[in-house]
Amino acid sequence: MRLTILGCNGTYPTPGRPSSGYLIQTDLMTVWLDCGTGTFAALQEHIDPTSVDAIIISHEHVDHCVDVLPFSYARRYGHPDLPAVPVYAPASVFERFEALIGRKGSAVFDALDFHRVDRSTELEIGDLQVSFFPANHPVPTVAVRIATEQGSVVYTADTGVAEGMATWAEGADLLLAEASYLGAPQDKPWPHHLTASEAGQLAASTNAGRLVLTHLWPTNDADVATKEASEVFDGDVIAATPGMIIELQERHGTT
Ligand SMILES: [Zn+2]
Repeated sequence: MRLTILGCNGTYPTPGRPSSGYLIQTDLMTVWLDCGTGTFAALQEHIDPTSVDAIIISHEHVDHCVDVLPFSYARRYGHPDLPAVPVYAPASVFERFEALIGRKGSAVFDALDFHRVDRSTELEIGDLQVSFFPANHPVPTVAVRIATEQGSVVYTADTGVAEGMATWAEGADLLLAEASYLGAPQDKPWPHHLTASEAGQLAASTNAGRLVLTHLWPTNDADVATKEASEVFDGDVIAATPGMIIELQERHGTT
């Protein structure tokens, strides 16, 4: 299984640095996980967009979902003979799109096949097993666990400290955790995101094989985030950067 970072900026993109978006690939499947601002263009630096087999969106905030719109236009008008692409997301994501663009005659709803997910949903997308957990965020948001025989990736999505998430994420080979803030948890400006040290604590609690920090606030120093997470998690910690590719070879084996 391969993880590619398309974008990892928290909240807004900056030049060359899109908002949240990732590719998960196996020999059989290509899944686009979160479609944040700027990630559709970044995706095309790695793959032909017609090879996307499925899309998973964690929540309705623009920096996680909006680039599925240009993707749908490329699909609908560039390749109208191809089937609709399944999109798995909380129901509120579809309601947001419907409010924005309507449904009748919409390329979005022609090109995409929406499926609602919640914490009880378990999916098999080709050789990927996918499950979800409710994040601690002001809108319905799902953390996502994707597993194959090569290992597992857990993506926290946007979240504050969420009761039960560590148990759910236990044993993740790679924890892709948001780290919006630096400094002491009690000083963070908003409860619905994590500090780097809280991300590190989550990695420690889950016995994660490796921690990758993402959703990094654009003006924060990623090296400081890595240092703060490393102070509470003994395993390997890196900060995501756009274009980064991580291969999961086997349990607790990444390169
Ligand atoms: Zn959010």
